[in-house]
Amino acid sequence: MGLIYIHVFGCRTSLCEGEFIAGELEASGFEVTETLNSDIRAAVIVTCSVTQEADRKCRQLVRRVRKTLGDDGILAVCGCWSQGITPEAACELGIDILAGSKGKRSVPSAVIQMLSGKRSFIDIRPDIRVETEWEELPMISPVMHSRAFVKIQDGCNHFCTYCIIPYLRGKPVSRPPENIINEVQRLIDNGTKEIIFTGIHLGIYGREIGTSLAELIRRVSGIKELKRLRLGSLEPFCLDENLMNALAECEAFCHHLHLPLQSGDDEVLASMRRGYTGRKFVELCGTARSRISADLHISSDILVGFPGESSAAFQRTLDVMEASGFGRVHVFPYSARNGTIAAAMSNQIPDAVKTSRTSEAISLGRKLFSDYAGRFIGREVEILTERNGRGHTRHYIEAECEGISDNEIVKAEVINFDDGNFECLDRN
Ligand code: SF4
Repeated sequence: MGLIYIHVFGCRTSLCEGEFIAGELEASGFEVTETLNSDIRAAVIVTCSVTQEADRKCRQLVRRVRKTLGDDGILAVCGCWSQGITPEAACELGIDILAGSKGKRSVPSAVIQMLSGKRSFIDIRPDIRVETEWEELPMISPVMHSRAFVKIQDGCNHFCTYCIIPYLRGKPVSRPPENIINEVQRLIDNGTKEIIFTGIHLGIYGREIGTSLAELIRRVSGIKELKRLRLGSLEPFCLDENLMNALAECEAFCHHLHLPLQSGDDEVLASMRRGYTGRKFVELCGTARSRISADLHISSDILVGFPGESSAAFQRTLDVMEASGFGRVHVFPYSARNGTIAAAMSNQIPDAVKTSRTSEAISLGRKLFSDYAGRFIGREVEILTERNGRGHTRHYIEAECEGISDNEIVKAEVINFDDGNFECLDRN
């Protein structure tokens, strides 16, 4: 029926949304490609708006794709960036179908309809300020990735002062647990071995429908064929005792948590409106290790050069990184995002200072990751192979093991750790 290009920008939640759209198009007989070429009849771009750079990249790809499609091809965009643009801007960029952070469910049918009929611009974005309905995007089996990201939550009401997402994603909304359980079961029946729960603010899952993430994990633990379960990024202030206990009791839970610290300085954290202190964060990591596992991999995000960050405050961030015993750390220099409270703060940090602090935090992050991963050398690990002998261990460290086939869970011995990767020997 034809080739459709799909590109996903942004977080794992976007990836889930992209999987749904790709799956629906394939189920309708189209071939989906991630390679842009002149044979495509239509294109879908799932956009991101987390930084101004993300906006720029989305706009750039939209222009490139429009050019490749020529006058006849259909261009649909959805996601956070397209939520914030005007219909006039969309028309000017040659967009035919404009969805936003919601309205994605209608994207595949809108593309199919437009391919077979009259073409005129449509805007299918609901008003996210009032929308509180869960938009169900069921996935039959992951089309683009061997592991399956299952979206369980959307929206955020925390309003960290640097973050634009609550303005673009709307109010928190949770997926009904029955739909999640059914989808997990269906994915497992179709051969998926690892499920990753994702959401914009995952930790508040269920609050508006009278349940919780802990309760969901307990229910999912009952699916006996489930081999591996992971959580996407979790705000530290959501990791309470009940959730830790549920994770500790869940056999399928892979011992890795991504807890974004952002800063270790209490004043900066308050100004970011994060809701914890550096000391509380370190204590939380200790409690999580004692409840779940001493080998628990805690990865994190650090935002360097937030307005008002002094050199002493930055040093406190480095101290908290060390004291938390992080594994993988992602370091981002702060960049002002128009429309957020932090962008209007007067005490912005010069770029040169941000650059040097960023490199310092990156090198500490590399050392911490290497220290953490070093404990596995000589030990047996379990790897889920994804492609060409590469995959991830249960603790979410990339691993390479020659001579093993894709989408298998294998045991291997770690012989080396280099550049963020394990080199392993097959033990099967
Ligand atoms: S919790 Fe904070 S960082 Fe996460 S989406 Fe909400 S506002 Fe943004």
